[in-house]
Amino acid sequence: MPQSGTLQVAIVGSGPSGFYAAEALLRAKPGAAVDMFDRLPTPFGLVRGGVAPDHPKIKQVILVYDKIARSPGFSFIGNVTVGRDIAVADLQAAYHVVIFANGADADRRLGIQGEDLRGSHTATEFVGWYNGHPDYRDRVFDLSGETAAVIGQGNVAADVARILATPVDDLRRTDIAEHALEVLAESRVREIHIIGRRGPAQAKFTSVELKELGKIRGCAVSIAAGDLELNGACQAELADPRGDENRKNVDVLRGFAGIPAGAGGRRLCFRFLATPLRFSGPGRVETITLARNRLQGEPFRQVAIAASETVELPCQLVFRSIGYKGTPLPGIVFHEGTGTVPNRKGRVLDREAPVPGLYVTGWIKRGPTGIIGTNRADSVETVAAIVEDLAGLDLSPRPGSAGLLPALQARGLRPVSYAGWQAIDLVERARGEPKGKPREKFTRIPDMLQTIDGGRSTGPSALE
Ligand code: NAP
Repeated sequence: MPQSGTLQVAIVGSGPSGFYAAEALLRAKPGAAVDMFDRLPTPFGLVRGGVAPDHPKIKQVILVYDKIARSPGFSFIGNVTVGRDIAVADLQAAYHVVIFANGADADRRLGIQGEDLRGSHTATEFVGWYNGHPDYRDRVFDLSGETAAVIGQGNVAADVARILATPVDDLRRTDIAEHALEVLAESRVREIHIIGRRGPAQAKFTSVELKELGKIRGCAVSIAAGDLELNGACQAELADPRGDENRKNVDVLRGFAGIPAGAGGRRLCFRFLATPLRFSGPGRVETITLARNRLQGEPFRQVAIAASETVELPCQLVFRSIGYKGTPLPGIVFHEGTGTVPNRKGRVLDREAPVPGLYVTGWIKRGPTGIIGTNRADSVETVAAIVEDLAGLDLSPRPGSAGLLPALQARGLRPVSYAGWQAIDLVERARGEPKGKPREKFTRIPDMLQTIDGGRSTGPSALE
C-alpha cells in the first residue's frame, strides 16, 4: 500500500511509450507509485500485437519492459479500459498525474470506391490476426487468389508483404498464432504488389526492413526499370543528409532488380507512382484501378499528381497500409485533423492552456511515426515536463489504485496484475515448447483469465 505523500501516477497504455514513461518517472521520482492500465490482460502493446513474428530480436525489448515492471512502485492493471470501465475524471481524482500512452489505433482511409468490398482489409486487421490479438482473432482472410496488393510503402506494408511472401515453414518456429499458420499454409497467393503513390526516393520503409524483402526464400522481386529513374528533385533529396535513409532505400531497390524466383516461389512487385482510384468487382475485389502519377514540387515536398493514364490490376486481396491515427478518449481533448492530443512537450493543452496533471507520450502525442526506440526520448521529454510542473501541482494525498480497484471489482470487472500476466506468459511458453515456438499465445481474453485462475487460484479477482 503506498504511503500518504506518495506521488500517484497513472499511465494509460502498456506499449513502449508507456513503459519508457514509467522508467523515466521511477528514475526521476523514486518512491512514486506508477499504475499502468491496459485494456488487455497482457502488456506490451504493439511489441506483442504488432511486431512481426519473424522479428524476434525486436521483441527482445520486452526484457527491458519486464525489468521496469518489476521495479518497486510499479503495478500493471490489465483488462481495464479507460474511457469505458473508468472515466478519465476518475483517474484524475485518484492520481496526481495521468499520462496517456494509448497509441494510435485507428486506420487512415483511402476514401475511394470499393474500399469496403470483401477482400479489402486494413493491414491492422491482418497484423493483429497473425499476431493473435484478441480483437482480430476471428477475422477471415481468403488467400485463395493468386494476386494480392498492399497499398502503402511503410514498414507495416513491408511486414504484411513479407508474411504473405514467406514460405510457411519459415514461420512455424515463430510466435505466429496457430490459426494464422493454418490459413497461410493453404495460401495460393503468388504475386504481391507493394504500391506507393510516390517514388522510390520517398518510400517510408527503413532500409533494414526493405532489404529483408529481397531475402525471402524462393521469392523473386520485380521493379519496372523506369520506376527507378529519378527526377531532379528526387536526386536533390538523395544528395541531402536528410535523405540518408531514402538513399539507402534506393540503393537497396536497385540491387533488387532481377532477383529470380525459386521453384514454386512467389514474387514481390514494387509499383511506384501509382494511386488506387477504386477497387471493383461483383461483391468482392477483383480489380484495382491505379492512376499513374508524376511527382511535383520542391525537394522533400514533392506530391503525387495523377495523370489521366490508368492501369487495371487484377487482384483478389488488398491490404490498406497507409498509416494510423489516434482516436478520441472521452474526457480528454483531441485534434481530429492530426489524430493526436494537442500538447506541448507532453503537457496536454486545452485551448493552448496546459491541463494540470494530464500528459501524453508516444503516438497519441506525436503521431504514428518512428521506431520503438523513438518512444524513449519522447517519454523522457514528457517526464521532464512532469518533473518541472510538480511544484505547481496539487499534491494533496490521492488514493491511487486503492481508490479504484474495489469499485471495479464490485462491478464484476477482472483487473489483471503483473503476476497475472506472468501466469499467462508461463503457460504460453509451455504451449509453444513442443512445437519449437517461443510461445503459443492465448488469443481470447476468457482463456487468459481462466489461465490466471488455474495457475493461481486467486478467486474472483486476478489482482492482489
Ligand atoms: P508510414 O511509415 O507512415 O507509411 C505509410 C505509407 O502509406 C506511406 O508510403 C504513405 O505514402 C502511404 N500513404 C498514406 N496515405 C496514402 C494515401 N491516401 N494513398 C496512398 N498511399 C498513402 O506508416 P506505417 O507503415 O503504418 O508505419 C507506422 C510507423 O511504425 C512507422 O514509423 C514505421 O517505421 C513503424 N514501424 C516500424 C517497424 C519496424 O521497425 N520493423 C515495423 C512496423 C512499423 P506518402 O509518403 O506519400 O504519404
